[in-house]
Amino acid sequence: MSRFFSSELSGIEPYVPGEQPKDRKYIKLNTNESPFPPSPDVLDAVTREQTADLRLYSDPTAAELVNALAEVFGTDPQNVFVGNGSDEVLAFAFYAYGEKGFTGPDISYGFYPVFSQFFGIDYSTVALKSDLSLDPCDLINAKGSIVFANPNAQTGLYLTPEQIRSVVESDPDRVVIVDEAYIDFGGESVIPLTKEYKNLLVVGTFSKSRSLAGARVGFAVGDGELISDLNTLKFSFNPYNLNRLSIVAGAAAVRDTEYTAKCTAEIIRVREWLKKELTDRGFEMTDSMANFLLVSHPGISGKDYFQRLRERGVLVRYLGDERIKNCVRITVGSAEQMEALVRETDNILAEVDK
Ligand SMILES: *Cc1c(COP(=O)(O)O)cnc(C)c1O
Repeated sequence: MSRFFSSELSGIEPYVPGEQPKDRKYIKLNTNESPFPPSPDVLDAVTREQTADLRLYSDPTAAELVNALAEVFGTDPQNVFVGNGSDEVLAFAFYAYGEKGFTGPDISYGFYPVFSQFFGIDYSTVALKSDLSLDPCDLINAKGSIVFANPNAQTGLYLTPEQIRSVVESDPDRVVIVDEAYIDFGGESVIPLTKEYKNLLVVGTFSKSRSLAGARVGFAVGDGELISDLNTLKFSFNPYNLNRLSIVAGAAAVRDTEYTAKCTAEIIRVREWLKKELTDRGFEMTDSMANFLLVSHPGISGKDYFQRLRERGVLVRYLGDERIKNCVRITVGSAEQMEALVRETDNILAEVDK
């Protein structure tokens, strides 16, 4: 740290992203990316001409992408905001609605407390129950704005739209942010509820189900006034937050709903297969509705399992949070990748059994 760094920021603990290794070719199951390439329509949309146009600024309203999202979600463009990944969208939303603090689950997306620190916002947590499920009543009693991922990050556990409605309805004077990064893997989105409630903001990403993590595209859907708040912040910070190629890639990806449905159906099929295979081998896990499983095994510590997989060329995520310190998080990849994971797991279990 230099002596010039603002003293207010000196204590900040940055988010630690999952490894993006370059030294060796791993089966990469640590950051919940898609094993499938983007829609063929995306590959066609990013042309040489589009690339040549990079000399020009991008459309600050990203209208092509906003319109595509509005069409697919059956809402109005004025109800859609887009950002440079949903991380940026969440950052704007924290800044906009953090005056009275935020509350989120004690185990969830690691970025929520980091944003709070960044913006000097109080962040409180509610404890997940012992089975790692989230009780909506605990959120109802919480103070300030509310944020949670649904399905929840790390656990994959899911609240129904009616449970979320009860949280949103409990206090119309606070904003509820529902982070739907993993909603396309079997859950039901609460985007339709944004038409009924002025205090509900639904955030989504192209990084998981739409195979565009590297393009950095995220969005929010909500009442026109909330969206207008986010645009006020964006136009006070970085008006051209989406680059030209990401706008056209994103628009093509969101319109190809058939391709997304095909990819997510395959992930769900493989996820259920993997649940059974690992359960048969003595693993315990939450009943994830996302594209990852949070698993533990009585015969091996989470950290040891993670390290042994890594030595064998399979990269999963060891999160280390106290309550899930014996678990690893495994991204559900292709059937072939999951077969390799199970094979290496058998080898590891045979080793530790001796
Ligand atoms: C992956 C993830 C994000 C971030 O998505 P980007 O659009 O890649 O920034 C946000 N929230 C949750 C819960 C995630 O898992």
